[in-house]
Amino acid sequence: MTSTYLDYNASAPLRVEARTAMLDALADLGNPSSVHAAGRKARARVEKARLQVARLVGRGPDSVIFTAGGTEANNLAIQSAVASGSRRLVVSAIEHDSVLEPARRAVAATEIWPVTTAGLADLDWLKAHLSNWTPDDGRPFVALMLANNETGIIQPVAEAAELVHQAGGWLHVDAVQAAGKMALNMAETGADSLALSAHKLGAPQGVGALVFGPGSVMVRHQHGGGQERGRRAGTENVAGIAGFGAVAELGIQSSPPAWRDAAARRLVTAGAIDVGAGCLRLDNTLCLVTPDYAADLQVMGLDLAGIMVSSGSACASGKVAPSHVLAAMNLGDLAGNAIRVSGGFATTEEDWIRFADAWLELYSRHQTRRHVSAA
Ligand code: PLP
Repeated sequence: MTSTYLDYNASAPLRVEARTAMLDALADLGNPSSVHAAGRKARARVEKARLQVARLVGRGPDSVIFTAGGTEANNLAIQSAVASGSRRLVVSAIEHDSVLEPARRAVAATEIWPVTTAGLADLDWLKAHLSNWTPDDGRPFVALMLANNETGIIQPVAEAAELVHQAGGWLHVDAVQAAGKMALNMAETGADSLALSAHKLGAPQGVGALVFGPGSVMVRHQHGGGQERGRRAGTENVAGIAGFGAVAELGIQSSPPAWRDAAARRLVTAGAIDVGAGCLRLDNTLCLVTPDYAADLQVMGLDLAGIMVSSGSACASGKVAPSHVLAAMNLGDLAGNAIRVSGGFATTEEDWIRFADAWLELYSRHQTRRHVSAA
């Protein structure tokens, strides 16, 4: 059976460029903090990757802090904001758990910023909210992701940045899903800090970065050695970082939206809802909601047909929780019926066709079963 991987938003396959860079690094010895030749070579690999990652987002290398992934980068931004005096945090309702959870647990008041039914952060709400900030609340900290991991919908980040900056605040942008899938220039987004994750671009899991600008204050978040200019202690994951740098250099590598749209049209004709159609969204992502067809049944049926997709976000897929993103979009009743299909650099048109063929067959069987049991 041919196996079709359409779950890039969960994790992209390892790119050959990343593998080569990692194997080269693994073949060497040395700690990047050592001053001898082997240490200097390891350091050079880390610094080369820092430049490559910085270029991906249009910043200088000094702005990049390597982390153990997007989750740590988001945590680091929030902890830094709280440590530097923010006592009121605003996070959008559709953020990834790696933003929502640290914000909820922070020693600061956290407010959830609603989205419209179209899935876009409500800028009027933000404007009104920022206007009743008091000096006791400290500096405003606002988190808005660039592209949502479940729907692919691209958020009005630059507009939000303007409002946040007018209020003297700090905008943190989780760009984990956007990087490598759309043009991304940190200055144009207006972000004061930006989270990235290597494995969404075809580099290894467990590596990421927090990129910061002059509008943010990074604090020491792990104590130990002086790595990452004292901001993130611990010997660097040299091979992983080298792999991250190698894919960062490749720029945008997504799959053409026409393939996704052609598949979506066939499913919509059969009764599915294409969440995010008509919105500005990532080219590779399709979020489908089908009334009366539970997401786990869809995911399992497709898996048996050799097609890998996920229900809700990747982190939620293991726990079969209804999507908080769709609930925030007022699709709460259907939040357990959503699947996410996401292609990437190695996806072919045939993969999308195979997915649509398999889904239509499964759905037709599902409907027959429902009609028989209702009779
Ligand atoms: N932010 C978003 C939007 C994500 O989709 C993910 C992972 O799914 C993360 C953050 C977490 O990244 P990592 O898996 O590198 O911790």
